[in-house]
Amino acid sequence: MLDFVHMGIGRTDPSSRRVTVVGSGFAALTAIRTLRRHAPGLGIDVVAPRAEFVYYPGTIWIPTGGREPDDLVIPLGRFFDRMGVTHHPAEATGLSEDGRRLATTAGELANDGLIIACGGRFLDRLPGLEHAILPCGGTGPMLRLRERLHELDGGTIAFGFSGNPEEPSAMRGGPVFEFLFGIERWLRKQGRRDRFELVFFTPAEKPGQRLGEKAVERLVREMRRCGITLRLGEKPQRFSERSVETSAGSFDADLILFMPGMTGNAWFDDTPLPRSPGGMIQADAHCRVAGLERVYVAGDAGSFPGPGWMPKQAHMADLQAAAAARNLVAEFDGVPPRHGYKAELMCIVDMHDRGLLVTRTEKGNRVLPPFRGWHWAKRLFEWNYLRNYR
Ligand SMILES: Cc1cc2nc3c(=O)[nH]c(=O)nc-3n(C[C@H](O)[C@H](O)[C@H](O)COP(=O)(O)OP(=O)(O)OC[C@H]3O[C@@H](n4cnc5c(N)ncnc54)[C@H](O)[C@@H]3O)c2cc1C
Repeated sequence: MLDFVHMGIGRTDPSSRRVTVVGSGFAALTAIRTLRRHAPGLGIDVVAPRAEFVYYPGTIWIPTGGREPDDLVIPLGRFFDRMGVTHHPAEATGLSEDGRRLATTAGELANDGLIIACGGRFLDRLPGLEHAILPCGGTGPMLRLRERLHELDGGTIAFGFSGNPEEPSAMRGGPVFEFLFGIERWLRKQGRRDRFELVFFTPAEKPGQRLGEKAVERLVREMRRCGITLRLGEKPQRFSERSVETSAGSFDADLILFMPGMTGNAWFDDTPLPRSPGGMIQADAHCRVAGLERVYVAGDAGSFPGPGWMPKQAHMADLQAAAAARNLVAEFDGVPPRHGYKAELMCIVDMHDRGLLVTRTEKGNRVLPPFRGWHWAKRLFEWNYLRNYR
């Protein structure tokens, strides 16, 4: 059990100040690095269930054998030592004293500043969801998907995603395209493609719209070219072991891969944290949480002002975490927060041995056609990114 820790809330002595970071994902780790760079003497407590980092973007390659879980689940002991942080193996469960005290499964922890970076949670309301494999669940479900792909001799594989009706930005469709194209191409290379029907279903008439019109056109064209059955504008309603039921009827499926919409973590319910319509923590353009002093949020846990297409992506999580950490350090120095994040979508939609590059900023939207180099760029990016934490 974590002992009750009280550090003297609101201390003026800078050398005794402590910040709590919740989580050990993209946003949390970037926040830690940024805090350490800008405030070398700061005490940093990290509350996260395990001292490990899961690199989700690489999990798309687990089902087809391109990655093993150990390649993507990075132990953080060495990184934490290097950064001089104290890891509390626990989950956040509540917040009191205007953000100065975090309740955890192992006790309470006081802070002089707080950065919440505990990611999102997936909506689990759909009946029969247990019959689908959820790619948001980390490496375990991806190994199960690999097993099922090897077991199946033929049949129908359904791939789908949906959003959060209360907050359109709280969805993640990109990886579903990657699984779809990746598995299609892998089956083709194995000479088994003709034994499978691949079906793509989603409530959107134009899937992947946040990637931009050109990307939607390109993705749909590519799906048709690969002989994938499209069920667009069909809202998923329930799953069974062998079928998918949508607003337009039901179809048989031997294997279902489904990415549900996102919402905020359950522990937010027992806190004064302000919430967006979709249940995330409402932030301002400086990643500050309204109404609570020196409390920040970064990454999938938050809802941030920006254009409608602003993605919930690791890259945005990094940008927000850097802004949050810099603003918090500035506040300790008596400087008002001024760091923001650039709304930027950078996405390589991987297709097993090729990839499609999509970029979107306030200035424009570009889609570069499928090319082997983008697949290799995605792999190189992973290697380079993970070097920071090994
Ligand atoms: C299959 C897949 C593929 C993806 N591909 C890409 C891609 O190619 N490019 C891209 O940019 N993005 C991609 N994403 C999205 C990206 O992974 C997320 O946007 C990113 O992980 C968000 O970072 P985060 O730090 O906010 O949350 P997370 O990375 O989810 O980290 C959350 C952390 O908080 C911890 N935590 C959770 N609850 C608690 C609690 N109560 N208390 C303490 N700690 C807690 C978790 O253990 C975890 O360490 C992909 C996602 C998936 C699922």
